[in-house]
Amino acid sequence: MIAQLRRIAGDDAVIEGAPAPYASDATQETLGLRGSARATVRPPDAERVRRVVAWCYDHDVPIVPRGGGTGFAGGAVPSEDAVVLSLERLDRFRELEPAAWRAHVEAGVSTATVTRRARESGLLFPPNPGAAEQSQIGGNVATNAGGPRAFKYGVTRRWVTGLEAVVAPGEVLRTGGAVRKDVTGYDLTGLLCGSEGTLGVVTSVWLRFVPLPERSAQVAGFYESAADGCAAIAAVFASGGQPAALEYVDAGALAATAAAFPAAVPAGARFLVLAEADGRDAEVASDAAELGEALAAGALLTHVATTRGDLDALARWREGVSGAVTGLLGAKVSDDVAVPVERLAEMLERADAIGARHGLRTCSWGHAGDGNLHVSFLLPPGDLPLRAAAMRASHELHAAAVELGGAISGEHGIGSVKRGELGLQLGDVGLRLHAAVKQALDPKGLFNPGKKQ
Ligand SMILES: Cc1cc2nc3c(=O)[nH]c(=O)nc-3n(C[C@H](O)[C@H](O)[C@H](O)COP(=O)(O)OP(=O)(O)OC[C@H]3O[C@@H](n4cnc5c(N)ncnc54)[C@H](O)[C@@H]3O)c2cc1C
Repeated sequence: MIAQLRRIAGDDAVIEGAPAPYASDATQETLGLRGSARATVRPPDAERVRRVVAWCYDHDVPIVPRGGGTGFAGGAVPSEDAVVLSLERLDRFRELEPAAWRAHVEAGVSTATVTRRARESGLLFPPNPGAAEQSQIGGNVATNAGGPRAFKYGVTRRWVTGLEAVVAPGEVLRTGGAVRKDVTGYDLTGLLCGSEGTLGVVTSVWLRFVPLPERSAQVAGFYESAADGCAAIAAVFASGGQPAALEYVDAGALAATAAAFPAAVPAGARFLVLAEADGRDAEVASDAAELGEALAAGALLTHVATTRGDLDALARWREGVSGAVTGLLGAKVSDDVAVPVERLAEMLERADAIGARHGLRTCSWGHAGDGNLHVSFLLPPGDLPLRAAAMRASHELHAAAVELGGAISGEHGIGSVKRGELGLQLGDVGLRLHAAVKQALDPKGLFNPGKKQ
């Protein structure tokens, strides 16, 4: 097998087994997930990806597509009978057309590179999931990644006008392209967005951009309780303005990070709401004032950041929340349920109650405007009984989110971590159609088996 794959993909493209960097994703830190594989293949171009897929499909070998390995669902963690197909060498911009606000990029280009190249051309690529230096655009498409700015700009799918993908049994599918509007046929681009490597391998993506906002401002509001903070979030909705991002940090996560907050945190603060305005100079000033007014109702204190230095300091602090929370006990099991925004307060209460029932220290933060909570159950590293309790708590969390009209995953996907839970949300008819789609595109079940099901 190794010899044949080397003939197809090139001598330097095939590694026996799955060396450490290809055996896990971001769940290694949280859940200790780690896989193995028969081989890792790093094809140098899309045609070689196609040939590897064709060979695997012909020989009944499972294929695990791999981007930057920053996923939180175990999606890129391989199984021992599989070939890991890493897209890292497909790292070219095939086209960058600033005048038309678009680019055609290969799947292995990092998210940060896309953002940077767009910015250098005076453009914005809005999706901003964390770990951007490591995650790849193909991985972002495969997980339909979001991030804070999804509140105003939407998730990755909204910025993808077309895809090139290798599908079974080793053929190239092209959907959409540079065209901005296309309602021909079923939405195959949308189907592949968020498919977590289970329907094919994305090799390139047509992206659209928007002009770079002239500037941004952030307003932080501190509250005595989650109820007060959620009332302020409702006030932002009622204000009629459209923040780029509307985030929250609960009491536990705030306590873990208060010392590093770039301004004074008022005594008694147990909830933080962070709103960002972006746009033209004049717009941002008035939007920030409006946001400040909405967030001031019921707040202990509000803090406004407008200078580049203050904004960068806030951004760095926000990026550090996850790590600081992990540092509390050394490890955590994280979740990413989403609920309609008006149920956020209720979901926060339920998350705390579920954690307490399982004897787990619990805290959360996340994308308040999208009702998307990153709930963390904290535990010491290697505490297997507590980890098992956290997995049971996660299951209850998913059921609670669905009961409140929400989703078991708002961002990270199902992967292997939420395996068997689709039925909670999709119901019998949804599950049947889900399986029919998989069967139609992957009749042998070789694309990332065991994931997203
Ligand atoms: C610190 C941190 C912060 C994060 N913040 C966010 C956030 O704010 N919002 C958010 O949505 N996510 C977030 N994530 C999760 C993660 O970064 C995203 O899910 C990201 O899109 C994964 O991209 P990747 O290239 O690392 O994919 P991988 O982890 O390599 O793979 C993820 C899934 O996509 C599949 N896949 C990868 N590439 C391809 C391809 N070319 N074709 C087909 N399938 C493929 C894999 O098989 C797997 O199922 C965060 C992760 C970390 C570690």
